[in-house]
Amino acid sequence: MHLDRYVNTFGRHLKARFGQRVRKLSLHAGFTCPNRDGTLGRGGCTFCSVRSFNAGDARLPVREQLAARRKELKRASRYIAYFQAYTSTYAEVEELRRLYAEATREDDVVGLCVGTRPDCVPDAVLELLAEYRQRGYEVWLELGLQSAHDETLRLINRGHGFADYADAVMRAHDHGVPVCTHLILGLPGESAEMCRETHARVLELGVEGLKLHPLMIVKGSRMAAAYAHSELLPALLDDYAATAAELIRRTPADVVFHRVTATAREPTLIAPQWCHTSWPAIHAICADLMQNGIQGSSLRQ
Ligand code: SF4
Repeated sequence: MHLDRYVNTFGRHLKARFGQRVRKLSLHAGFTCPNRDGTLGRGGCTFCSVRSFNAGDARLPVREQLAARRKELKRASRYIAYFQAYTSTYAEVEELRRLYAEATREDDVVGLCVGTRPDCVPDAVLELLAEYRQRGYEVWLELGLQSAHDETLRLINRGHGFADYADAVMRAHDHGVPVCTHLILGLPGESAEMCRETHARVLELGVEGLKLHPLMIVKGSRMAAAYAHSELLPALLDDYAATAAELIRRTPADVVFHRVTATAREPTLIAPQWCHTSWPAIHAICADLMQNGIQGSSLRQ
């Protein structure tokens, strides 16, 4: 099944803009996270594990990481440099300027995606991203929100509230920088209705992109300990697919889905087992969308 038929995917968006396949190259710029180093908190978000980030990469210059990733991804000739690991704006802006310049030195890099926390986006960073946008690059600020419910954010030790997210989005938009918001479906204590409320609040504020993730239990996270003590149940594929498909139907057609599910590699993933690859979730979401309506269809009723 082809997700592009039902969803405005990032791949579809990039192909429409650049006329060819464009792939994201994940980078680790050696940043850490203020929710781990004690600046905002310690221990990090309860679902997060540093093992998910390839620490070996952090020792390599960005241009070498890009070269290695290019070799892995054969079927593309244009790329987006994706600063993904940890909090990718957690540095002085001059350091970010140097890294972005290094990442875009080759002509085949046509864009920048920068993943970060909502409370780590000073105006100086937005001005820098806006400069790249004005120069014609595809630019996205990826904000981890996960839930719009402050009680859930406290429970998972995010160290920020919805108000921080709203402030970051409004300032990003003031600078003309598109935002892709990350949401986790199935957080502890959250119902499908709470996921719908989060999604509605994000859309109400305005967003250009979304990433949907199932809750994954990964080794080294605080949730892994809770799971070992049977305090957490793994997400069920059918529940995840039904909620994700419903949110997609409630999303305007011009919002870009950068992802509708997520995976974790062996040996990091503990549960659910269907997150070893993206195909079970994509297949189930496509089947639901085919039967019940495509992206945006619920808004037309
Ligand atoms: S999920 Fe992001 S903000 Fe939370 S601890 Fe991990 S790197 Fe830090």
